[in-house]
Amino acid sequence: MKKTNQFKTESKKLLHLMTHSIYTQKEIFLRELISNSSDAIDKRHYLSLTDEQVGSADYKIIITLNKDEHTISIKDNGIGFTEEELIENLGTIAQSGSKSFMEKLDSKDVDIIGQFGVGFYSSFIVSDEVVVKTKSPYSDMGYLWRSNGVDTYTIEAIDKEEVGTEIILYLRKDEEENEENEEKFSQFLEDYEIKSLVKKYSDYVRYPIYLASDLENTLNQMTPIWKKDKNEITDEALNAFYKHQFNDYEEPLKTIHTKVEGLLEYQALLFIPKRPPYDFYSESYEKGLQLYSKGVFIQDKNKDLISDHFKFVKGLVDSSDLSLNISRELLQHDKQLKKIQQNLDKKIKSELERMLESERELYVSFYEAYKNTLKYGIYNQFGLNKDLLQDLLLFKTSQSDDYITLKEYVSRKKENQKDIYYATGKTKQAIMNLPQMDVMKEEGFEVLFFTDEIDEFMIQVMMKYEDMNFKSIQTADLDVASDKKKKEIDKKEKEAKDILGAIKGALNDKVSDVKLSRRLKDAPVCLVSGEGISLEMEKVLKQMPNQSDVKASKILEINPDHPIFVQLKQVFENDATKLDKYASILYHQALLIEGYPIEDPSEFAKNLTDLMLEKM
Ligand code: ADP
Repeated sequence: MKKTNQFKTESKKLLHLMTHSIYTQKEIFLRELISNSSDAIDKRHYLSLTDEQVGSADYKIIITLNKDEHTISIKDNGIGFTEEELIENLGTIAQSGSKSFMEKLDSKDVDIIGQFGVGFYSSFIVSDEVVVKTKSPYSDMGYLWRSNGVDTYTIEAIDKEEVGTEIILYLRKDEEENEENEEKFSQFLEDYEIKSLVKKYSDYVRYPIYLASDLENTLNQMTPIWKKDKNEITDEALNAFYKHQFNDYEEPLKTIHTKVEGLLEYQALLFIPKRPPYDFYSESYEKGLQLYSKGVFIQDKNKDLISDHFKFVKGLVDSSDLSLNISRELLQHDKQLKKIQQNLDKKIKSELERMLESERELYVSFYEAYKNTLKYGIYNQFGLNKDLLQDLLLFKTSQSDDYITLKEYVSRKKENQKDIYYATGKTKQAIMNLPQMDVMKEEGFEVLFFTDEIDEFMIQVMMKYEDMNFKSIQTADLDVASDKKKKEIDKKEKEAKDILGAIKGALNDKVSDVKLSRRLKDAPVCLVSGEGISLEMEKVLKQMPNQSDVKASKILEINPDHPIFVQLKQVFENDATKLDKYASILYHQALLIEGYPIEDPSEFAKNLTDLMLEKM
């Protein structure tokens, strides 16, 4: 019985594009169908290792050209489709590459199709009808799928013995009225054309590809792309491989190709995607590399091959040292895998460092895409990977709109500078306006900007770089003032003991101390943190569940040279009752500058109103 089904809406759109574009690179359909066949054989091979029902075969892909019927067919003995899989995989857009392609698409721009792995639907670029005959080892019947690529497709059960899939394309008629395009579709019925297309796009496919007219000679070399020498592979081929294999619509930002020989033998072909995939920051993202043994696919995402701090890396590892029959559980504990992972870790790092040295712009775009992963990598496991990762970090600073490394920071520090200074805030502007920046500007010390939430956590485990400590300019123990200034302020502080005590009393348990500041120049007050967690850390932790009672110890610093302090002293001498109000206003001001919410907005507003009334 024949059943008619509707394509899903998204599929219709993509199909419409395929059938209506005067698309110059029509030939890509062959690459896409051969890749699908190769994947299907991989799947069958893998399943056959553990499931007798699947059974193995003499794997191959056969292309048949039929000039009388005006058809080209691509046949494989891979895993095939069940009826449900036909509906699921050919009736909807399964693949994320096609999805993002649809999202990106500007209809005038159809020539970019070739850059995307559009998969099976590319058949309709060259055909006005497509028939799929298929049999899965999991169903008794075979099935025939047929569609003209418009609204609907039909599925009927057929007798088919052999497991696998044959895709028959009814090529469009040549448009003869248009001279230039005369040979348009019938060219794909010529042996030499198919031979050269297979060479061009599918040479590395691991299974033999034949023309039905000559089953003696394979069309492809069958050397997996990663087994070839670097100078044998074009960037074009690598990029095409990456996009297809890892479902990306963009070229990779960086490709790392490495072959290791000796006691432990493996080839690795690694890619850093231009952007993190959409689910990168969610729990559902799975890191991992594909694992092959002697060119044969074993596992799609082996987590043990790549460390968390480089989890954005995609790619594959092929090692001849792994036994094909070991189960996944055993694989997880494999010492060889661990060793490979450690080597890859070093390799990736050195490639990144090289990029940082010689392709700074590219590195910056890499860094902006993945900085949180690197920083988390430092924080994670109590800083175990700090040495590996710290030189990959970049920061903007009070003296540089461009990113600099820690090494660069240290190399240009001032002679009398003891620590590496940093300041935390939401934006560069917010930090530059911090009252605590005054003294840094005055002394000419460069300050690293920490504008990512994770920075505060990272720095807790980093502590030092080379032999310099990291020091926040927002903590009480910052020590940058000159000796002369320190002495001067110590003296003033002794004199102001009473008023400082009174202010502290007025603020009650809001602050742990009130002091005269050695760092303020223009602003009257600022808040800094004492022992324990920092102000920024408190803010971050407060957003987390069950952490609402964490508290940084806050110290209110008052600028001894500010007219406000001079006035305060007079108020304290003449009418000490008013001091409470002023203390509260100053404290709230300091909170606001630090980016805290006002603790008691109505009290703050009332105090301000009272004050304005007095002065008006
Ligand atoms: P993809 O990029 O995922 O291959 P396609 O649209 O080309 O996207 O194919 C959709 C799905 O159909 C595939 O993921 C695969 O599960 C299945 N498929 C495609 N071609 C074959 C084939 N020759 N044999 C078995 N399954 C196939």
